[in-house]
Amino acid sequence: MIFDCHTHVFGPGHVGGSFLADAKRAWGEQYELIATPEQHWETVKQFDGAIVLAFNCPATGVVVPNEYVADYVGKHKGRLFGFASVNPHDGDAPRQLEFAVKELGLVGLKLAPIYQNFYPNESSYYPLYAKAAELNIPILWHQGTSFVSQGFLDASRPAMLDPIARTFPELKMIIAHLGHPWHGECVSLIRKNPNVYADMSALGSRPWQFYNAMMNVVEYGVPNKVLFGSDYSFFTTQQTIDSFRKINDLTEGTKLPRIPEEVIEAIIHRNTPEILGFR
Ligand SMILES: [Zn+2]
Repeated sequence: MIFDCHTHVFGPGHVGGSFLADAKRAWGEQYELIATPEQHWETVKQFDGAIVLAFNCPATGVVVPNEYVADYVGKHKGRLFGFASVNPHDGDAPRQLEFAVKELGLVGLKLAPIYQNFYPNESSYYPLYAKAAELNIPILWHQGTSFVSQGFLDASRPAMLDPIARTFPELKMIIAHLGHPWHGECVSLIRKNPNVYADMSALGSRPWQFYNAMMNVVEYGVPNKVLFGSDYSFFTTQQTIDSFRKINDLTEGTKLPRIPEEVIEAIIHRNTPEILGFR
């Protein structure tokens, strides 16, 4: 079983505003962010399946609608699982989530405070988490840094989620990218809260950070709380497997400890659908 727990699709017109302007600043004027369902399927079809994320972030200029994701994953039932995204600033966000789950067939919620500009520990957002708990669906959080200049950096630290985990102990939550660059904080959360997990997506391009984050995971004894994901279209599933298997390259010729191969392979083969209750 190789299941990619963190993938995106971006259709024409979904990415604009300050997100696109900042991306061009970071990666050059020619930068475009398009990843159609067809391109996505070409990448993931050789594996067992994937989570596909909607992304409702008008504060920074990206909106990938729930319907777009639902249309696509509906064509590959049992292989692809769609996560809804709602704008927490909308007064009826809990109702929108209920619609996405019950009517569109989505099976999780994606939230991203640094792209949606909200402080997740404020009580006004708790009805949304209560709705996710009631619907028995997981929340995947982008709880880490980003290049977007208008994003709320202080809202995006992993520790922001601790009060939510304590209030809703049955609610399954995943912290994307091991909370980069705050992997120590992320590991603290997944260690203490039984239903909080992390994914290791998107870390392959920063091998020193990836290695240190994974060493933290090993030393705190929480490899079983780490899910496998790529953050497609920024990296493919195969690229992520390859970079994970090369994580120890930088230890060669040194006395640095290695990430055990069995830890790496166990994460690559993690049965995420079973952990999240999809199958
Ligand atoms: Zn992502």
